[in-house]
Amino acid sequence: AVSRSPQEHLFMVPFLARSYSTGSSVQKEEPTTVEKGLGFKGHDMLAPFTPGWQSTDLHPLIIEKSEGSYAYDSNGKKYLDALAGLWCTSLGGNEPRLVAAATKQLNTLPFYHSFWNRTTRPSLDLAKELLETFTATKMAKAFFTNSGSEANDTQVKLVWYYNNALGRPDKKKFIARHKSYHGSTLIAASLSGLPALHQKFDLPAPFVLHTDCPHYWRHHLPGETEEEFSTRLANNLENLILKEGPETIAAFIAEPVMGAGGVITPPATYFEKVQAVVKKYDILFIADEVICAFGRLGYMYGCDKYNIKPDLVSVAKALSSAYMPIGAVLVSPEVSDVIHSQSSKLGSFSHGFTYSGHPVACAVAIETLKIYKERNIVEQVRSIAPRFQDGVKAFSDSPIIGEIRGTGLILGTEFTDNKSPNDPFPAEWGVGAYFGAQCEKHGMLIRVAGDNIMMSPPFIMTPSEVDELISLYGKALKDTEEYVK
Ligand code: PLP
Repeated sequence: AVSRSPQEHLFMVPFLARSYSTGSSVQKEEPTTVEKGLGFKGHDMLAPFTPGWQSTDLHPLIIEKSEGSYAYDSNGKKYLDALAGLWCTSLGGNEPRLVAAATKQLNTLPFYHSFWNRTTRPSLDLAKELLETFTATKMAKAFFTNSGSEANDTQVKLVWYYNNALGRPDKKKFIARHKSYHGSTLIAASLSGLPALHQKFDLPAPFVLHTDCPHYWRHHLPGETEEEFSTRLANNLENLILKEGPETIAAFIAEPVMGAGGVITPPATYFEKVQAVVKKYDILFIADEVICAFGRLGYMYGCDKYNIKPDLVSVAKALSSAYMPIGAVLVSPEVSDVIHSQSSKLGSFSHGFTYSGHPVACAVAIETLKIYKERNIVEQVRSIAPRFQDGVKAFSDSPIIGEIRGTGLILGTEFTDNKSPNDPFPAEWGVGAYFGAQCEKHGMLIRVAGDNIMMSPPFIMTPSEVDELISLYGKALKDTEEYVK
């Protein structure tokens, strides 16, 4: 479908978006070895999700300071942080109350653990506060982790322990969805439905199955409505369960809105229908709210927006506005009662991390939740979300954009030719990477994954900052249209 010659676009795209940048952080005349694809260590750090032997290249973008919705690099260049770090700095880059909460805790009790019936006051208080924020259904207990990945690994162990406690040793398989992202530890990567997380890692683990990605634009049949599409996906899920044997399926895990997979919002009636299926076969529903929780969708939780009644919930990121690493699992009374009542038979729930419920992280999270309440963060998000959504979606007519999708303060753009999901640009053109590099050049940080780009700005963005984001997006789009021409 693409008639243009790709030759003129072969500009080392797959490696680093910043290869294109003429921003102040990069002054490159010649491609480096990393760009040629050989890779070498310009620095000593092995960087996560970074190409070129997984090492930072000679010119990583070093972020040195953050302030409100902005981040500054080591050359003093200012960027609008349209991804809020990694979908996480909900209260922006320099909230003094969070710094004060951490400092106070560091000066009182920098660390104590929560093993063997010892614990700290901040962890107990946070568990209480956190459970109160979740109202879609009643949650009884919170278990603390250091990350979203650890939260999802914990989910698997909780569910297995639960089914062992119930005398159902065969009910152990998990169903996740293609394109989901649940983290990068062994089990969380297995649950994720992104091939890059599996390839060369001998994953997914055999107990994980993947069902359809609910992306209507990409996967619906001609003439199929959103509701019909949801019905078909729910039927596919049911057929998978029946084929495997319902007595072998323990849990279904889903992000209310898929984040890293490209910001995929569920089609109408999707969650209603898949919940009915999993309920029918006594399968637990796990909501991975690591991105969606605490207001991002204009609701406290994604579960509130989509009427999801989960048995288990994973949270992280905005729980502490990312100022300290912390995640948590929320456990329903039904699941925690079974675990509690059977643990004398099965032995203690022998799982946890040195830093589970770290007092400094908990103190920061308590303050974060307090700020959300005081500032009515859900209303704050709702007050700017339409400006953000409408402003960016106004670019939908661009000939290089297939779809712009999102809700609240999360938004994805997919670049395709001919407005069609079936006409991707040649991968070597790196259209998404080019767009990302142009954003960076103009002073905005976003996330790029192939020809999908994603944004999830801080909740505290002002209307004028939203306007700035839209204007920077427009500039980068114009550059990218020129490039693709
Ligand atoms: N779940 C979801 C939905 C995520 O988006 C992420 C991270 O982006 C994770 C889990 C993993 O969280 P972490 O990177 O804190 O391990």
